[in-house]
Order: sequence, then C-alpha cells, then structure tokens
Amino acid sequence: MNKITNHMPTAELQALDAAHHMHPFTANTALGKKGARIMTQGKGVWLTDSEGHRIIDGMAGLWCVNIGYGRPELGDAAKAQMDQLSYYNTFFQTSHVPAIALAAKLAELAPEGMDHTFFAGSGSEANDSNIRLVRRYWDVKGQPEKRVIIARTNGYHGSTIGGGSLGGMAGIHAHGGKLAGIVHIGEPNWWEQGGDMTPEAFGLMRAQELEAMILNLGVENVAAFIGEPIQGAGGVIIPPSTYWPEIQRIVDKYGILLIADEVITGFGRTGNWFGSQTFGIKPHIMTIAKGLSSGYQPIGGSIVCDEVAEVIGSDEFNHGYTYSGHPVAAAVALENLRIMQEEKIVEHVRDVAHPHLKAKWEALTDHPMVGEAKLVGLMGSIALTPNKATRAKFAADAGTVGYKTRERCFANDLIMRHVGDRMIIAPPLVITPDEIDVLITRARKSLDEAYKIVKDEGLFVAR
Ligand SMILES: *Cc1c(COP(=O)(O)O)cnc(C)c1O
Repeated sequence: MNKITNHMPTAELQALDAAHHMHPFTANTALGKKGARIMTQGKGVWLTDSEGHRIIDGMAGLWCVNIGYGRPELGDAAKAQMDQLSYYNTFFQTSHVPAIALAAKLAELAPEGMDHTFFAGSGSEANDSNIRLVRRYWDVKGQPEKRVIIARTNGYHGSTIGGGSLGGMAGIHAHGGKLAGIVHIGEPNWWEQGGDMTPEAFGLMRAQELEAMILNLGVENVAAFIGEPIQGAGGVIIPPSTYWPEIQRIVDKYGILLIADEVITGFGRTGNWFGSQTFGIKPHIMTIAKGLSSGYQPIGGSIVCDEVAEVIGSDEFNHGYTYSGHPVAAAVALENLRIMQEEKIVEHVRDVAHPHLKAKWEALTDHPMVGEAKLVGLMGSIALTPNKATRAKFAADAGTVGYKTRERCFANDLIMRHVGDRMIIAPPLVITPDEIDVLITRARKSLDEAYKIVKDEGLFVAR
C-alpha cells in the first residue's frame, strides 16, 4: 500500500476511511457513500480540511480543545516526558512526577476540600470509576444496600456501558442495554417541556423529582445523584436559576453523594474553573476529562472530596486502569493547565469572550427561525422553532430542521452542531472578539439559507 498522507487526494482518503474505519455514533455505510470530511490541520480556533477550506471550529473539537489547536508547548511536554519516562503504572506502590504534579495542581484549582484525584483515560471511564467509588463508599460505611444512582433523562455521561447507563439517552440504552441500579428523573429543559410554567417554577418542579425519587426508592437504597451542571450533549440545556439550589438542598437533606459531571463544564468553559462554582454546587465528586488536556492527550478522572477519599482509602479499592495517570497524558495536561493559568484564559472567557459573544448570540433571536438563544461562558444553544410564541416543535421529525441547518453551517465553513432542533456551540476558550464576529456572521448566513430551504420544502410548519 502507498504511504497514506495528507497529500493524498481526498477521494482516496475517503475510500480508505470507508473501507476500514468504523466511526463512532455514525451510520457507517451511509457515511462511506457520502465520504467523510477529512481534517488535516488545526491552529487556534481554525481547522483546515483536505480541500483547503479554513473552518472556524465552534465546537472545540468535541468540547475539548479549550486552549485551541496547535500549541507546540504541549507537543514539547509530551516529547520530554516520553524521553524521561514513557510509561509506568501507579498500581503497585509506585508513583511518578507527572501524576503527582497533576493531582496536586487539580487540588489547587478545585473547590475547597476536593483534594484527591483518581485518574482514568476518558470521561466515560471516570464515570465508570464513579459508579464503583460511590457504591464502595457506602459499603465501607456499613450500608452496602445504598447502591442506586439517580441520573437524568437526556443527560450524557459517556458511552461505555457504565457511562451510557448513567446517561439518559434512549438511543444509547437501546444499543447494548443498561446497567441495573441506575434510575432517571426528568431534565430541566424548560423550552421543550415547561408548558405554561415559568422557568423558575419548572426548575423547582424538576429538582423536586429528585426528592420524590429518593422517597420512592427509600433513602437507605440511594447512593448518589449525578448531573452535568449544564447538559452538554443533550443540547446545552441551561437550567433555570432555581434548579441547582433545590438539588443541593435535597442532596444535603438526605445525605446522598453528589457527582457533578464536569467533563465539559470544567476548565473554564463556564467562566470559572468549574461549572459547580458558576452554579454554586457543592459536589462530593467531579468527573473531569476533555478540557483537562485540551484534547491533546486522552485523560480523565474523578476529583474526590476529602471525606470520600478517606473512606475509600481505608482499605484496598479493587479498581484501576493500566493508563490511570499515564505520565505522558498527565505531563500534557499539566502543560495545558500552566498555559491556562499563565495566559489567564478563564479570565478571558469571563471578561472578554463571553460578554462579546453573549450580545451577538442573544441577538440571533431576531431571526425568524430562532426561538431562544442562551449562553453561559462559552457554551451556548439556540432553539429552532416554527412559532416562537408557543415554543412549537416542527411537524417534521425532531432533528430534521436542525440537521439541515448544520449542513448549511458545514458548507459555510462553520462547525456548529445540532442536537435535535437545537444548534449548539462551545468554541475554543481562546477565541478572540474578531473570530467571534466571523462565527456569528457565518451562523447568520447559515440560518438564513436553512430558513429558505425549510420554507421552500414546506417544513416551516408547527406540529
Ligand atoms: C464527553 C462527555 C463524557 C464522556 O467522555 P469521553 O472522554 O468521551 O469518554 C462524559 N460526560 C460528559 C458530560 C461529557 O460531555
């Protein structure tokens, strides 16, 4: 076979991709016929594809490239660590500097009293660890029957069998099943489900489903509640202001553990280091991944509060991954966090990028197809609708209009994803005001084109 490089014609790369590469979350036969778009380079917020298009990445890869693409310092850190100590495990009474330094750095950045990290290779793995951590915690405390974990419909916690079970996505449960001992309550999605209630009343009602579920199961059977401060893959569902305070009240009242899945909201995405700080949540465990290394290396973990770490640490914990705390991934994550701190990237999100984007993002509601437009930090969504006043859904299958809009974005060299008929963005945190203007210009153009297509095809009709 010829050497496969960026210089091969796109069609040849696509054919090889179709022949041999099984893509995640993809209908592979259909993609094979169409051909995948082949990315060849990244710098800052910009991607280049094999046809030479310059694409603005409104999704930071998959919500992870927080410091932007192509920072040579991270490659240098990887090389130096590979040369020094390419791998060693942390299972058998050994440790190494990158894992030590990263765990110490995370203790410094995390909220007060969260001083311990259990490393994994990804967010899904970390949530699998969390299932075992919280059940083991109650075992050690002499309450082994406390095993049920309460999660939320349309939450996303990864795609291993454990992560997928914690997540509340029926499409994922349908492919391979779901673990026992995990139950779901409703999501705080006012736009779709709030009916005539105010967002505040609806947020309270959804949070109180947690209390009802705890009482229904019996608190003696409940180990923990898990939620993303803002649901990401579920469509950037920003909860009403009443939601998290009420969840916190209930968790405190019944003494169950609270897991904040910060895989997206961690590391500056919401304008603080962690989404828990933005929403005033006090978790016992935070799941981390994605922005931890800005996606330069696969690494995740669970930041654990002192009390849980003490209980777990009182005996052997029969769990771990070959790559827990992998020295190269940890060294790259540390370098990423050094850049985040020294270049004040969290402050940039809070003081510069968020205010600039917020005004322009929210102004998209003047578009005839945009019902609401919301943004926290650099994480935003818009709801597409044929009738803003009634928050109507389209008559066509959910996602039909969203997909058409996404296709226009893709054609206009903007990566903006759709979840059903919501459009979502989470650009690299280093995005500048000028780049935000480009993003908005392309988003408006794409919305205009999609609106015309939707009307021409007779789809601008309420259900
Ligand atoms: C992406 C994501 C995960 C899963 O992380 P992977 O690294 O893909 O396994 C878990 N939780 C949330 C909130 C995520 O967005």
